[in-house]
Amino acid sequence: MAVEQTFSGDHGQQNNPLHAAQQLMYDACTRLGLAPGVYEILKEPARVFTVSIPVKLDSGEVQTFIGYRSQHTDITGPCKGGIRFHPEVTVDEVKALSIWMTIKCNVVGLPYGGGKGAVICNPKKLSKGELERLSRGYMRAIAPYIGPDKDIPGPDMYTNPQVMGWMLDEYSRIAGCNAPGVITGKPIVAGGSLGRTEATARGISFVVREAAKELGIDLTEATAVVQGYGNAGSIAARLLHEMGVKIIGVSDSTGAIYNREGLDPLAVAEHKAANGTVTGFPGATCIDPDDLLTAECDVLIPAAFENVITRANATRIRARLIAEAANGPTTPEADEILYRRGILVVPDILANAGGVTVSYFEWVQNLQNFYWSEEEVNRRLEMIMVDAFAKTYAMSAEHKVSMRTAAYMVALDRIGRAMAARGWV
Ligand code: NAD
Repeated sequence: MAVEQTFSGDHGQQNNPLHAAQQLMYDACTRLGLAPGVYEILKEPARVFTVSIPVKLDSGEVQTFIGYRSQHTDITGPCKGGIRFHPEVTVDEVKALSIWMTIKCNVVGLPYGGGKGAVICNPKKLSKGELERLSRGYMRAIAPYIGPDKDIPGPDMYTNPQVMGWMLDEYSRIAGCNAPGVITGKPIVAGGSLGRTEATARGISFVVREAAKELGIDLTEATAVVQGYGNAGSIAARLLHEMGVKIIGVSDSTGAIYNREGLDPLAVAEHKAANGTVTGFPGATCIDPDDLLTAECDVLIPAAFENVITRANATRIRARLIAEAANGPTTPEADEILYRRGILVVPDILANAGGVTVSYFEWVQNLQNFYWSEEEVNRRLEMIMVDAFAKTYAMSAEHKVSMRTAAYMVALDRIGRAMAARGWV
């Protein structure tokens, strides 16, 4: 079909994240037999801004930082996606991440399109005052192009509720009113949502429960291994433990621990908070972090960083189910190997979508100026995650494709129908 001609020429640049995102969209559009215009419209973001941000440093000198904001599409609603502060971030990475946000929002059926922002900087080298001036400067630069009904940023790598608070304040000064709906991931007192801190992990626990039902795994008899013991990993371990799963191994950047009889995830989190590491936890054995990933278990949760399941270890993975809390933990080659081996992989764009879903709830609460209980947030999150899992699982069974391809298909099917309804294709 015509889409192929549009894409050809981009093949072969496997390491470019933008080309990887385009390839996945292209494959899903082709499998669904969508009108060629769908891919043609989506292959590049609708708008990408580059901004320069002069910041007065504590020394009195002025340094100009470069920032980006990519608005991929607003076909299914205002753009949504975080802002990362990172010294090596590139514009192609920001564009790719905005595409991934479009797909993620549409897998779970949120009324959003994708966006992403970044500032090239090393936040660890900035004082608190410099970080605040940089955050406010970035918001001043992008304020004309964003807003609660246009594009709603949130936190990402090396940005946090405090940075969101400064950005909210800067935008509100420009707008001349308190405008909490412009940004999510805010401190609760400034309009944040209850349940946001646990949302990603809670979403993981729901998809693990649904996948276990499909695979006939009894969670009260099941074992799990969690790589990465930060926000997503440690809370996912606790929630799975509450469902009756035995957590037999966990790791962080300092090492890995294992106990076949099970670990108490809360006690491990307290040990890590007190000692800065999971290692040395009483009753557990220290093991090679590489061996942790290939340990025999029912559920494996990569919750650290990207490209950890590769061609080199995919043949040795002994989990029955993998739920990707981290973004991009499985390489494309590993994905194929796992699919052929019959290991069910719940992909990042579905498994960790609990985070953006509760960000959506935060925005809804801000727009209504009516705030929900944590139970209400969790109940609605469960409904959305269960429904998205079921749709993706059914798509995967119907088309005999991996859950990752199926998730792209679920998202692109919705986007394609929205484009047709509005006469874009
Ligand atoms: P975090 O910084 O809170 O935790 C990361 C953890 O990974 C830390 O415990 C760190 O020690 C560990 N780690 C680092 N290097 C490691 C290594 N070599 N081996 C094992 N562990 C290692 O981050 P987070 O918010 O939990 O995010 C983790 C992943 O989940 C990231 O890929 C992130 O993009 C993704 N994610 C998080 C959210 C969220 O809401 N927190 C939402 C979507 C996706």
